[in-house]
Formats: sequence, C-alpha cells, structure tokens
Amino acid sequence: MNDDLLQIEKLNVEYITDDAIVYALNDFSLNVKRGEKIGLVGETGAGKTTLALSILRLLPKKIGKITSGSIKYESEELLDKPESYMLGLRGRRISMIFQDPMTSLNPVKTVGDQVLEVLNLHFPDLSKEEKNAKVDEIFRLVGIPAERKVEYPHQFSGGMKQRIVIAMALIAEPELLLADEPTTALDVTIQAQILELMKELKEKYNSAVILITHDLGVVAEFCDSVAVVYGGRVVEIGKVEEIFGNSHNHPYTKGLINCIPDLTSTAPRLHPIAGRMGDPRIKVQGCCFADRCPNATEKCKTTPPPMVYEGEHGILCHLYSKEGA
Ligand code: SF4
Repeated sequence: MNDDLLQIEKLNVEYITDDAIVYALNDFSLNVKRGEKIGLVGETGAGKTTLALSILRLLPKKIGKITSGSIKYESEELLDKPESYMLGLRGRRISMIFQDPMTSLNPVKTVGDQVLEVLNLHFPDLSKEEKNAKVDEIFRLVGIPAERKVEYPHQFSGGMKQRIVIAMALIAEPELLLADEPTTALDVTIQAQILELMKELKEKYNSAVILITHDLGVVAEFCDSVAVVYGGRVVEIGKVEEIFGNSHNHPYTKGLINCIPDLTSTAPRLHPIAGRMGDPRIKVQGCCFADRCPNATEKCKTTPPPMVYEGEHGILCHLYSKEGA
C-alpha cells in the first residue's frame, strides 16, 4: 500500500448558469497522504467547497461540470466510476462534515437513528447488537451520553449537534474526512472543543483530513500542511511551519498573514488585502492575483506563473522562478 491517498491533477470545474460560465476551479492540483491533516485556506468564493463537492462527485447536477483533470483515490480514477461506486465511497471511505450541522441532521429522526442509518447502509452484515454497541461507543467518543441518542436534533445545542455530525462522519471509520468550515457556526470556546475532538478522533482512526477554512489560526492549530487557494487554484502549498514561519511566501499568503491580529504588536492597525477577488466569469490569462498584487508586472498580466518548488514548499509566482517577474 503506498502513502498517497488522494491525487488531484489539473482539475477544471465550471458552473454553467443561464447568463455566464463561472470558472470555479482552474488547473487545481493537490496530493493528500494517508493520515495527513491539510488545511485549504482562502477567501469565500476561492473554490474550496467546490473542490470537496467535486471529490465526492456531488456538484449541483444541472449546472456544475468537471470539464477536465483527474481525481485519483487510492490510485483509482473517480471521474470514470459509476454512481453505484460513489455510493459505496461516500460516508464509508470518504466522509464530509458541513459548516451548518442542521444541513446534515434530519429534524424528525432521533440522533441515534441517524447515526445507526450510516451503519445500516455501509455495514448491513453487522448484528443489531453490534450496531447498537458501535453507536453507543461513538456517542461516548464525541462526548455525548449514549442515553441521549433517543432525542431529536432540536434538543441539542449547536456544539452538541456538530458533535453528532462528527459521530455520523466517523462511525464508518473513513480514510478521508472532508471538513468544510466545521467550526465557523460555533462560538469560540465550542470551536476549540470541536477542534480538540477532531484531533483526538483523527489520532484514533488515522483518517486523513482536508480542513476547509478561512481561518489561518485554526489551520496553524490543527494541520500538518496548508494549501492556500485563490481564484480556484492552489497558489502556495507546504508544511505549516514553512508557510507561517517564512518570509518566503506568495504575495497573497503574505496578505492573509498580515490580516491576522497580533496582540503583541504595537502596529496601529491590520493591513487588509487591497481590492477584491477577480470575477470568476472571466478566464484569467496571466496570474489570477495580478489585479491585487503589489509586486505585479506586465508579464504577470499575460503569462501564467509556474509553481516553483523548494523541497515540498511550492509557490505559484513569477517572483520565485528563474526568469523572475
Ligand atoms: Fe504577484 Fe506576479 Fe507573483 Fe502573481 S505572479 S503573485 S502578480 S508577482
């Protein structure tokens, strides 16, 4: 068994609406190893959630389209697989946690029944007693007394609901967990508890995690590696310490880091990134960040930058190429 779990190569995804084509992912590439915790960071609209939906082949049917590229999971090309194969993969080998727990929980079913449903679907051969024992165990692991499994979602707080969603996502012991802003809807103390819980469960099951977030603090706390996403592309990738402990960054990453409040600094204010993300309906010729980049040159506007690697740390920018900007 090799170490590579997920390999995404030059993935292009479009949303085709009545009046325009939205270029959501553009030559997006990413590798995830077994057991790795990787953070996908970037602003809203950068393409992070589209990536998760593409991996699961859950893009909105009529408008979302993968136009080219490859998604290999354990060396199998997912884009060639029939829907029946994906049904066996989703929730069993790859699970997803959404930002709002209410989108994942059915308000008219008890939470215990909802967790049990995952087992009924993916482990039909287990006996009733074995399934009940597994449900009780996962409730205990996520910090909810098993007696409460007969209650309905509305009887739980937001943080507790997210714990139940995590229980549903992990009961089948998936190899990969996609967590889309799992703590954003929660208040700060509950956020910390949920991250701690995800860390503990990740250790127990050794699942790889793709954590989608706009919060660099959460990434620094939880992840091994970071992929910074802008305009539907990975613009920088590397280990957490390479991204945060380095002056050698993509200009967009530098901008994101400058937006983090530093309580020890006497600097009078934060420096938000000037301008707005480009219109995703326009196909970019050169660098997708050129309109906002303080270092942009004429070349940046017309020529796509290469991904320049130093070890495993990659930066998509002319500044770091041999030829320069
Ligand atoms: Fe800035 Fe040019 Fe680098 Fe793009 S390629 S980030 S515009 S310097």
